Amino acid sequence: MTERSSTDVLVVGGGPAGCSAAIRLAAMGHQVTVLERSGGESPVARGDLLVPAAVDELVDLGLNLNALGGNAITGSRLWHGGRSVPVRWPDTRSSQSGGAVLRRSDLNAALRKRAVAVGADVRLGARATAPTVERGFVRGASIEYRDGSASEIGCRFLLVADGANSRFGRGLGTHRDRRWPYAISASTYVASERSTDSWIETSLGPSDANGHPVTGHGWVHPVGDGTLNVGVTVLSSYRDVRGVNIVKLLDSFARSVAQRWQFDPAERLVEPVRRRTPVGGSVSPTMGATFLVAGDAAGMANPFNSHGVRAALATGRTAADVLNEALTVGNSTTLQRYPALLDEALGRYHKVGRLTARFLGRPWPLRTALTVGIRSDAAMGAAVRIATNELRDGEAGGAERAYRLAAIIARFAPSW
Ligand SMILES: Cc1cc2nc3c(=O)[nH]c(=O)nc-3n(C[C@H](O)[C@H](O)[C@H](O)COP(=O)(O)OP(=O)(O)OC[C@H]3O[C@@H](n4cnc5c(N)ncnc54)[C@H](O)[C@@H]3O)c2cc1C
Repeated sequence: MTERSSTDVLVVGGGPAGCSAAIRLAAMGHQVTVLERSGGESPVARGDLLVPAAVDELVDLGLNLNALGGNAITGSRLWHGGRSVPVRWPDTRSSQSGGAVLRRSDLNAALRKRAVAVGADVRLGARATAPTVERGFVRGASIEYRDGSASEIGCRFLLVADGANSRFGRGLGTHRDRRWPYAISASTYVASERSTDSWIETSLGPSDANGHPVTGHGWVHPVGDGTLNVGVTVLSSYRDVRGVNIVKLLDSFARSVAQRWQFDPAERLVEPVRRRTPVGGSVSPTMGATFLVAGDAAGMANPFNSHGVRAALATGRTAADVLNEALTVGNSTTLQRYPALLDEALGRYHKVGRLTARFLGRPWPLRTALTVGIRSDAAMGAAVRIATNELRDGEAGGAERAYRLAAIIARFAPSW
């Protein structure tokens, strides 16, 4: 007979989104169970960069990045066409911290440990295979463990936080709007003596096989442990995206920066894997009668740079607030506030990002933006402020003006 237990909130996925919600809910005194498919081993390489606002979220969850060995990052050197502009992290009131690079496996392990410390039941090697639906309401999930055993767990509410592919979420009816862009990325680790640098490199518009700049970027993130994380991202809005082989693009990008960063591009420490990330709020619905969806499963990654840890942590926080209210009041209609809260926090930013991605998907606007932009330190500073969503309400700086103009255009543009 299958074992059956129950919990207040069942979280499917123990990444940044799931853990952010689980830590908060458990700390509020609710019964929380987190199901995490992996056994805690190192996942494939991601980007490992935590922008300052992501570090703020982690500090708020009780994590100490220095103690975890995070490599503190001052800012980004933006490169294009042989010219580089160093841009410090925006000095905004919203962010108290600097940025950091920390291996994703270490970040996930620390988040899960914190969740256990505040009372959550975190089950590693536990894959949620299907929701349990009773009279139309999601009331739990079936679980398959790594050792081949199975069980079922009941819950009052469920949080879908199973990442970009979100098979569990799709089983509940979520889907990506195909008109909107997604990001295609690949990254790897290499050994380098420059692993403790305090600046990351962001290479704008790396060249495809025909030498044309693509709508995307390459990066070098010094991890601080003797390695660098090197990767590339292309947005699907790039006109010739079908002709881009992302692993070959990674190889040619790695060769182009190898001398500067003192590594051997032929000596990759892990095999790169091609991955897709939905961006810009492109997944819906984000709620059902008894469930919410957070992080990549809800397509929340930043459409300007495809970074998603900050949004995963933030949407996990919002989900926790809404679920806490629903558990306290005992009324699931509270969940209806969640999509509106997401829209209030990110809706306009996502729409401007989608519009920008589409505009820069064509060769001439992209070339013009890159050529003109890289000559101006102020324009590059503005680009970083917009790309990290560190805009200041009511201020009249170049970034704010450019963003407001784009927002006006986005208001009248169709919903992409
Ligand atoms: C190559 C690459 C580089 C990136 N670089 C950066 C970067 O530098 N900075 C940044 O901010 N963002 C980066 N991102 C995006 C970032 O990784 C994601 O936005 C972020 O991880 C989203 O967090 P999440 O918790 O929503 O999903 P995930 O981190 O994907 O976590 C989901 C978890 O759910 C688990 N899971 C899945 N299905 C099940 C199931 N059925 N049952 C149980 N568990 C399940 C998975 O094992 C996983 O641990 C990068 C993405 C890629 C692909």
